Amino acid sequence: MTCEDERLRGKHALITGAGSGIGKAIALRFAREGAEVVVNDIKKEAAESTVDELKEFGHECFAIVADVSDSDQVQRMVKEYYSKFPSLEILVNNAGIGGSMNRVVSMPDEIWDRAMKINLRSVFLMCKYFGKLMIKQDAPEGQVRGKIINMSSARGKKGRANFAEYAASKAGIVSLTQSLALEMGKHRITVNCICPGVIHTPMYGPVTAEALASANQIEPPCLDYKPVGDPEDIANVAFFLASSDSDYMTGQSLMVTGGRLFV
Ligand code: NAP
Repeated sequence: MTCEDERLRGKHALITGAGSGIGKAIALRFAREGAEVVVNDIKKEAAESTVDELKEFGHECFAIVADVSDSDQVQRMVKEYYSKFPSLEILVNNAGIGGSMNRVVSMPDEIWDRAMKINLRSVFLMCKYFGKLMIKQDAPEGQVRGKIINMSSARGKKGRANFAEYAASKAGIVSLTQSLALEMGKHRITVNCICPGVIHTPMYGPVTAEALASANQIEPPCLDYKPVGDPEDIANVAFFLASSDSDYMTGQSLMVTGGRLFV
């Protein structure tokens, strides 16, 4: 069922890694708000399963299967996207992988490179190849032309032992968001990022009592009633960043952690 006021009606959105978890929740929320949504994922079945759920809202939607860390595949994705949709008002760079639980001194070089490629290079490639077309698209005078929303992590704000490659890749997204916001402002494109805490998704895996106790010890949540967030908690903030309510914000990274402060 769509929302009564459909605040994203007329907007086209592309969400990477939307076959699962947070990306899927964002795709569903945007479609409920009236957006036409393109679902990217590296896995065909996952992308198509999200599209099947989106069809219920009755807006145009389709899947593009691609590895967003590969330049050729991103450029192919641009062609496929614009062969069906005329413009891109909301780009959500969400695809990513989790940490490997290695210490730096024993981390295989390939683990480091993989995190940088999938978590950080992918955001650069998407912003580069879609961004260059976004800046040219028509927009009513005085209105925001487009919105870019990057998925960082609270771990990108504060390192943790055994999380070095993940934390560094996510800190890179915070920095890239700031630089890009400075470049895109004159084109009336806002660029912000979200830093989720512990969110219950396939990437996080089962939230065991042991994992939760460890997380609570390092960064205790303030919101006692909810130590672990749901993908929809992040989708709510993504919707805010996609809507006109956030038009006067750019270059920001929003902590969505149930009160875990990460300071
Ligand atoms: P998820 O359930 O694993 O969803 C991520 C999706 O992205 C998966 O379907 C994944 O496919 C896909 N993907 C991975 N690499 C890709 C690539 N190169 N190209 C296209 N798609 C790719 O994870 P999630 O928890 O929703 O995480 C979404 C984002 O939020 C990530 O950037 C993550 O770092 C961030 N985040 C999550 C949490 C959390 O607690 N869950 C906290 C902070 C930040 P595969 O399954 O094949 O990898």
